[in-house]
Amino acid sequence: TDLSLIRNFSIIAHIDHGKSTLADRLIQRCGGLSDREMKDQVLDSMDIERERGITIKAQTVRLTYPAKDGKTYTLNLMDTPGHVDFAYEVSRSLAACEGSLLVVDASQGVEAQTLANVYQAIDNNHEIIPVLNKIDLPAAEPEKVRKQIEDVIGLDASNAVLISAKTGLGIDDVLEALVTRLPPPKGDTEAPLRALLIDSWYDAYQGVVTLVRVKDGVLKAGLKVRMMSTGAAHVIERVGVFTPKGLVVPELGPGEVGFIIAGIKEVADCRIGDTITDDRRPAPEPLPGFKPSVPVVFCGLFPVDAADYPNLRDSLAKLRLNDASFQYEPETSAALGFGFRCGFLGLLHLEIIQERLEREFNLDLITTAPSVVYRVYLTNGEMKELHNPADMPEVTRIEKIEEPWIKATILVPDEYLGPILKLCEDRRGEQIDLTYAGNRAMLVYRLPLNEVVFDFYDRLKSVSRGYASFDYQVDAYREGDLVKLSILVNGEPVDALACIVHKTHAEQRGRALCTRLKELIPRQLFKIAIQAAIGAKVIARETVSALRKDVTAKCYGGDITRKRKLLEKQKEGKKKMRQYGSVEIPQSAFLAALKMG
Ligand code: GDP
Ligand code: MG
Repeated sequence: TDLSLIRNFSIIAHIDHGKSTLADRLIQRCGGLSDREMKDQVLDSMDIERERGITIKAQTVRLTYPAKDGKTYTLNLMDTPGHVDFAYEVSRSLAACEGSLLVVDASQGVEAQTLANVYQAIDNNHEIIPVLNKIDLPAAEPEKVRKQIEDVIGLDASNAVLISAKTGLGIDDVLEALVTRLPPPKGDTEAPLRALLIDSWYDAYQGVVTLVRVKDGVLKAGLKVRMMSTGAAHVIERVGVFTPKGLVVPELGPGEVGFIIAGIKEVADCRIGDTITDDRRPAPEPLPGFKPSVPVVFCGLFPVDAADYPNLRDSLAKLRLNDASFQYEPETSAALGFGFRCGFLGLLHLEIIQERLEREFNLDLITTAPSVVYRVYLTNGEMKELHNPADMPEVTRIEKIEEPWIKATILVPDEYLGPILKLCEDRRGEQIDLTYAGNRAMLVYRLPLNEVVFDFYDRLKSVSRGYASFDYQVDAYREGDLVKLSILVNGEPVDALACIVHKTHAEQRGRALCTRLKELIPRQLFKIAIQAAIGAKVIARETVSALRKDVTAKCYGGDITRKRKLLEKQKEGKKKMRQYGSVEIPQSAFLAALKMG
């Protein structure tokens, strides 16, 4: 392969600015799909992605482009997710290419993730091509946005490409820019094999599929390869590329991106970021790895039906292969039985994993309150990392507790600035900076992550009517006046609802949780007391009054089939309940109660 005819690039953008639509146009123009196979956002292949309209897994596609210079180029496109929770996927994609298309919606302008992604691209030494999208919209202001890119990001946008990914206008200009402005990859066919493991996933038909970027050497069927970090060796059965359909090719050389199938059974053998080398002629040094992902939000996942535990365990193992940023370990809860404590990059990440488990693996789950990682310093000098409020030591043994703080960047039209400042102050935020670019304010705050994981993002969106964008990085640990808030139902503590809160917020949170639970717990044949407590001190209470009516009372007369149906329905409802002492709490009440701030 002639390296000068290869270009590897990512598309980076704030969510909804048109990455996936641009990828569609590029595939339509240069990819291996017929018109009939082409559908909107083809790369968003998972059902959840389609329904939510977002890209979760980074995907890759090989395109073939006959350029104006008469040569035919191979373009490897890495689609990336834009949401803040998936920064890890973005960094992996970026490490595998030389340049980026920076897509900015010309009717919206630069947003928080535009900034976050572009800084990552710069860190990876990418050549960046600014692309102003949606110029078909009457509200598009490409000149204003061009200036904004220069003012806010400090990137020369004088030769930005103006396009409409929707209509296809300007797509050829994008392709020409890729070929003329991005550098080709570097690499040596003769050197010992070094390929970067970008991603791997489990495929029901092929087993473990591994996505790689070859740096040096050649990958082909029959070669015995070794994973440098684990030492595991496998013989390659097939190599191929995505067009986006999987296509087997004879070999993958330097600069190329593709997949290998090597009869790998152990999912643990494929560490993302690992270097794959030739078992007979190994490279002396692995490639520089990726930034490891650090889960910042933890929660418990429990099967509603205890018999599903083995299925949950296997499903988690499979998901983990598809998503290296997600972690889990076994956990036991007094109320919920056997389950797993899982770590995520953020709340959206948590919701998506939960949804995938329920849909793809047919599991019914209960999710406990999300918690950040606290550092608890004990009086005996020890430090414990606390992933679970249930493991909080006795107050008397605690010297101090530290919590993680983040540095958040918020971009918003200045008319919404007031309510956003208030929101940040309510969440114990400390303002670091406030600057303007035109009528947009760029706000930098330090905030405790604990105050952000619940519903900060939703609140931010609602007070700004959707116009605010938000991005964050974990900053530092700081001491805080934190307490464990317990919820008791008829005197029984519900461990799944326990949470750690700042002392000044405890009463308000406790009261809100009780009120919410009162609405969510259906009336039963007896009175139910709901209490919030810190240690032995009750700080809030509500009562669900007793229910007198018989469910079958409506069926006057002797319509036995109807009566049976009703009882059947009631039984069905019961399946989704959890028992606390004598009280049944519907599963839906957990998540709903936990979602409120
Ligand atoms: P992503 O989140 O960056 O992948 O964005 P999508 O490609 O999913 O696009 C978000 C929305 O913008 C979708 O409803 C697209 O149809 C729409 N969109 C994308 N490009 C254009 C464009 O050039 N013009 C118009 N009018 N809409 C567009
Ligand atoms: Mg997308």
